[in-house]
Amino acid sequence: MFILYILFFIFGTIVGSFLNVVVLRLKKNKSVIKNPSHCPHCKRKLRWFELIPVVSFFIQKGKCRRCHKKISWQYPIVEFFTGLIFVLIIVYFADFSFYGLVNICYLLVISCFLIVIFVYDFKYYLVSDKIIYPAIFISLLYDTYLALITNQFSIFFSSILGATVMGGFFLFWVLVSKGKWMGVGDIKIGILLGLIFGIYQLFTTLFLTFFVGAIVALILMVLKKKKLKSEIPLGPFLTGAAFITLFWGNYLLDWYLNIFI
Ligand SMILES: [Zn+2]
Repeated sequence: MFILYILFFIFGTIVGSFLNVVVLRLKKNKSVIKNPSHCPHCKRKLRWFELIPVVSFFIQKGKCRRCHKKISWQYPIVEFFTGLIFVLIIVYFADFSFYGLVNICYLLVISCFLIVIFVYDFKYYLVSDKIIYPAIFISLLYDTYLALITNQFSIFFSSILGATVMGGFFLFWVLVSKGKWMGVGDIKIGILLGLIFGIYQLFTTLFLTFFVGAIVALILMVLKKKKLKSEIPLGPFLTGAAFITLFWGNYLLDWYLNIFI
């Protein structure tokens, strides 16, 4: 099993370096596949040893070898966390039957989408339609497949209900605040998370989002990095909470119910 974890970590970091490229080129409206990887400053093509996820950043001391401009910390961080998330998926969803494998594939793919949504919203305060719509479509497809294969349509309805409730919840706040507290992008993320988690687990995600969000907002205010009124994108909190829910949602729910019931 340990070898499998290592392999999935390496696989994840490679996918992570691709996701970094996706985020960058999505913003610049460039093709992801056409151009080979290059330094964003001096456009120099990268050699093979500059393309090793996580490791290259530290070998080059975070700088381009030619123009010596700093390389963003975003690159090794996204690569590392993609690797970590891939390993956690294997650890927590280690079912290698046919259905299990389909589930693992779905989780790997949807995680990539969530990571791109996280980074993109964190950097640009935006949710890209080119990312969110395919993710919603894939989740809808998977929920339909799951319902058909297990003959349990309650799964499907739970997802649709989740998407409606979460989407509606954010729509409400967008309308009330006239788009000041939350944006249309958050409604779309809400719909996606509803489809992924269904109605029950959704509340864990929502609770975590505002719990973690409030703590981070407080820390930023204490550090005087942000004022109370300044804008903090919600997407990173939503997607971050989604990953915590994915791996530890059941524990959290048990713990929560144990305290109050
Ligand atoms: Zn350069």
